[in-house]
Amino acid sequence: MKTLNQLEGGLLQLFAPLERFSHRYLLAPIRFLLHQIDPLAEKIEGTRFKKILQISIYPIFLVLTLVIGFKLTEQGISFRTFGQTIVMFLIFGLVFAPLERLIPFSKRWLDDKELPADWFLFFGNKLWGDYLNKPLRIAATAWIVQEISPEIGKQIWPSYLHPVVQVFLLLSINDFFRYWYHRWMHENSFMWRWHSVHHSSERLYWFNGTRSHPLEGLVSSILWAIPFAFIKAPAEIVFVTNLLGRTIGRFQHTNMDLILGPFDYIFSSPKNHRYHHSKSHVIGHTNYGGDVIFWDILFGTFYLPKGEEPSDEIGIEELPNYPKSFLGLMLAPFIYRRLQKEAEELTEEKA
Ligand SMILES: [Zn+2]
Ligand SMILES: [Zn+2]
Repeated sequence: MKTLNQLEGGLLQLFAPLERFSHRYLLAPIRFLLHQIDPLAEKIEGTRFKKILQISIYPIFLVLTLVIGFKLTEQGISFRTFGQTIVMFLIFGLVFAPLERLIPFSKRWLDDKELPADWFLFFGNKLWGDYLNKPLRIAATAWIVQEISPEIGKQIWPSYLHPVVQVFLLLSINDFFRYWYHRWMHENSFMWRWHSVHHSSERLYWFNGTRSHPLEGLVSSILWAIPFAFIKAPAEIVFVTNLLGRTIGRFQHTNMDLILGPFDYIFSSPKNHRYHHSKSHVIGHTNYGGDVIFWDILFGTFYLPKGEEPSDEIGIEELPNYPKSFLGLMLAPFIYRRLQKEAEELTEEKA
């Protein structure tokens, strides 16, 4: 324990200046530009223009993703490399960040104090995912296919259906597995240690949907190999499904105040996902869906009370001392018991 403490202390000292530097020199200019939108946000308050934005943004993005996705596959373009996915992320940011400023769900969530940690987590997870998780998953899938039957997946996939239907089918099947994995991470205390990093965030915005501990992704990539070995959809369907998943993912955490109507009952939407991040475990153990929400409806974990808005007070209530820096978040699962003990002492002190 002592060595872990020393290691933690040393690494924290190493990373702190880096986080301070990113705050001051990288994020401050972006913050300044985004602040220029505030007067416009006030101006459109209560107008019909705002309402049209709130209703139309989500369906426009879904349709655009499908159209652009299929067009790209026709031309044989796909985002596979590290650089390409980063560019795609930045394009999302250029549109999402100003829109979040224009029609925010929570003004408090516009505060960007968690950003450096999120940046490090994003790049770290991207590198780790591309160079470790992905090859592992491919190897495991190849092994399973070889052991069982290389042709079985191809035979059962309904390629005769309309491509858009195939995309939604693949999205739903993938999310069935994701649903159970996500639910397991919440209901099993050892798994929760890792997943708690995702829930430690005190604000939701377009960028932090990917905020998670890299080891969480490692376990999932090995587990994912099993369904991937059997579901052999055509490459273009897989590509468009992934692209659509990314769009849904950016919206899932967005701070935009959207009016989604039926979409709240089909997709893992910003509104139902805000309940998933609730401070209360009772409310938080709901809406596990990553892309779609109907597995929650089917398995009894859907939560969306009518006439109510989710709270913007989110995070892990029982651990007020949860680390906030990048390195602290990396170490949190390893020092989880200590965090719990410190939290207990804090409540005793208060009492
Ligand atoms: Zn969760
Ligand atoms: Zn989330």
